[in-house]
Amino acid sequence: MAPLRLYKIIFILMLTLCCGKNEQPSAPSTISINPNDYPWLKAKKIFVDAGHGGTAATDKFRNGPHGVTEESVNLQVALFLEGMLKQAGADAIMSRRADVDISLDERCRMVEETQPDILVSVHHNGTIHAADGVNYTCVLVRGSLETFPASYDLAVYLKDELAKVIEAPALVVSDHSVFQETGTRILRNTAPVCPGVIGEGGFFSDPEQALLMTDPKYNEKEAMAYFNAIAAYLKGGIPTGQIYFACPIWKGVIRNRTPFVFLKADPGQKNTDIKEDSIVITLDDVPLTVTKWRRNIFRINYGRVLYPGGHRFRFYFRNSSNNSSMVLCSSFISDVERGDYANLIYNGRKQLNWGNVSEGLKMLLSANSMEATGPEGRKLIKDIADGFMKLGLSDTAEYYNLALHHFHPADEKKGKKARNVSWYPIRYYGKQIPIVFGLTP
Ligand SMILES: [Zn+2]
Repeated sequence: MAPLRLYKIIFILMLTLCCGKNEQPSAPSTISINPNDYPWLKAKKIFVDAGHGGTAATDKFRNGPHGVTEESVNLQVALFLEGMLKQAGADAIMSRRADVDISLDERCRMVEETQPDILVSVHHNGTIHAADGVNYTCVLVRGSLETFPASYDLAVYLKDELAKVIEAPALVVSDHSVFQETGTRILRNTAPVCPGVIGEGGFFSDPEQALLMTDPKYNEKEAMAYFNAIAAYLKGGIPTGQIYFACPIWKGVIRNRTPFVFLKADPGQKNTDIKEDSIVITLDDVPLTVTKWRRNIFRINYGRVLYPGGHRFRFYFRNSSNNSSMVLCSSFISDVERGDYANLIYNGRKQLNWGNVSEGLKMLLSANSMEATGPEGRKLIKDIADGFMKLGLSDTAEYYNLALHHFHPADEKKGKKARNVSWYPIRYYGKQIPIVFGLTP
């Protein structure tokens, strides 16, 4: 493959001479893309992150056979992708366009600053047991399908497209499989901004695959897989939504206990609707229902009243293209008066005992939102965990049981059934969306 390498050297030399400072232009793609074929990509912001960079001399783990380095292949694919996206009329935002070392924090800051529609991070894989001929492709998403459904949708498109290029098994896995407790920093820190994935296209540690990676035509094919996946995903649109309270807000709190509350959904694409039966909405983790009000607008059935305390709606749904919104979250405070805390605990327990579990839970959770560390705290969380168990939500019940174990270590120590849980349970609430007050959508 000597002529190819020579081609590559001349190519890179030309780019370096043309642009100075190692900044490279978009790779001149041999594939021409007609923007009229992708009208929905126009002005869409796609953050393209070429993984690593500038560390090949020291980072031997990311160097493969045939002189291949992961960072250079990542950059090559990313530059081809940039060219394709620009041809299609999209706005490609690059984390790097040269062989430079940019910290993960800096990359995350760039995402935060530019607020893209989606993020794709281009990587390639390596393994210490390369001798076994390990080669497959995987797409990493943050968390689980329940916490990051929109990223998962994008990941499925990318997995299928990459599989065609690499001709090897392809799968979607959580970034917790790489870093168990935290997941990957790029997906973790950009999760509140937009759906994001890390593509791991093939193993640079595999001699056969590494040889392919030295070929710009092959890099271009891989970029095309990213382009096709991005185009197919964004064609379906990314739905989003906002909560409306018909009552006004007063010094940061609402005083009306029974306002009309709506979910106004934006399907994210023209001529699409929200699938009503896909709407998942909870108030402080207690599942709620909605009633259709107008097209893509739903009234939220929150129960009898909005109890005093701090609350959180958490919601997500799919549009008729079957694309999911991100998990969204809206918080508000309902006015608290003297005696509310004790009343909520007393009446909440009464409701639970009467079998009115959902209403009882809402009351106890409201009390818990006011004060989590007080003398009532331990018993309160225990009752909440039991309540969720009665509702059949064993995962949520388990969360509160684990929280209890961590919140009250002193009590736990002398407790009868000491648990041996050395990890802290973390809840992901979703992307924060401010509530609109005083308006009916
Ligand atoms: Zn990597």
